[in-house]
Amino acid sequence: MTHSDLLDRYAQLIVRSGVNIKPGQELVMTAPVDAIPLVRLITEHAYKAGASLVTTLYGDDSATLARFKHAPDASFDKATGWLFDGMANAFKAGAARLAIIGDDPSLLAGQDTDKVARANRARSKAYRPALELITSFSVNWSLAAAATPAWARSVFPDKKPEAALDALWQAIFSCSRADTPDPVAAWAEHSRNLRQRTDFLNARRYSALKYKGPGTDFTLGLVDGHVWKGGGSLAQNGVTCNPNIPTEEVFTMPHKDRVDGTVSATKPLSYQGTFIDGIRVRFEKGRIVEAHADKGGDVFANMIGTDEGAARLGEVALVPHSSPIAKSGIVFNNTLFDENAASHIAVGQSYSDTVANGTSLGKEALAKAGANQSLIHVDWMIGSAALDIDGVHADGTAEPLMRKGEWAA
Ligand code: ZN
Ligand code: ZN
Repeated sequence: MTHSDLLDRYAQLIVRSGVNIKPGQELVMTAPVDAIPLVRLITEHAYKAGASLVTTLYGDDSATLARFKHAPDASFDKATGWLFDGMANAFKAGAARLAIIGDDPSLLAGQDTDKVARANRARSKAYRPALELITSFSVNWSLAAAATPAWARSVFPDKKPEAALDALWQAIFSCSRADTPDPVAAWAEHSRNLRQRTDFLNARRYSALKYKGPGTDFTLGLVDGHVWKGGGSLAQNGVTCNPNIPTEEVFTMPHKDRVDGTVSATKPLSYQGTFIDGIRVRFEKGRIVEAHADKGGDVFANMIGTDEGAARLGEVALVPHSSPIAKSGIVFNNTLFDENAASHIAVGQSYSDTVANGTSLGKEALAKAGANQSLIHVDWMIGSAALDIDGVHADGTAEPLMRKGEWAA
């Protein structure tokens, strides 16, 4: 198949299996300028599926960099609140959301970390009303990737630019199952498999998970009434969407006050244009009380210092080490892919639909249940072929859940 055939199938997959746009529904898309060919195909397929209006907001890495190089200091406490409010209004009015990502993982590596932290905080704060509508699945939404030259260069530094871009597209197509004869059907089957796993985990009613691996020895409490999710999600508007393309994870809600022990990351984390590598933290009663990173330690410290919830967990996800993305052997320097290659945890905002009746509970009731709240939500990878996980029942009895990174039950 030619690249343009694959790109067209991929666009169709994103529209149908990813966001699952409904006739008459508006679509708000964000994308990097380098993704224009994909965005145009998505727009075409969205209109063919009956979208009433497709609006794309483009981002440009060069413009972002220009800001960090030349903007006055006060710029870094500003954010486009007016734009995010507009997006929130669109979601409230029923618009679907699609984010195409393809960022340069080290765009801001050489920039002033204080400015980066301030800009991130201002953005997270301004984006909060829109993000809440997304994390509570008020509307159908999806996140997918486009290969861009800068991202490809970081993943395949030894290849020539053209070859690197090509290799990254191939990897995206294959991890997303866009290169199968019927990608939409392949996704339906994949979703069913993930559903079997979540059904199994939901029936076990574990009260905690116990992790043991190199540099990792910790217990993570799950909230009472936690719900394991994976694959398709039923949004509150009645539309089933696949929020991440690709996805291999099953995930649920950790208790914000019941995490204890030491955790080491197994992959580097690209956070808002900087690399954080060699993360090692210690939790006490749910909170990170000691944090270390071999690289990007100050960025990591700023990240978990964003607010009270930024040093507590909002998500726990399990991914077998044999997932197709892990098997590709590629470190993507991008969380959408890397989180689906390894079991992971996320500091920050929890997904309210991962606790029973969570989307109809208010903030206080959610907090009482153990749901974490924060301006940020950042996943980091802790899974490997050396990680063992036990499921612990309320009476303290434990059973093997994962052994050497694979499902044991
Ligand atoms: Zn996740
Ligand atoms: Zn996450």
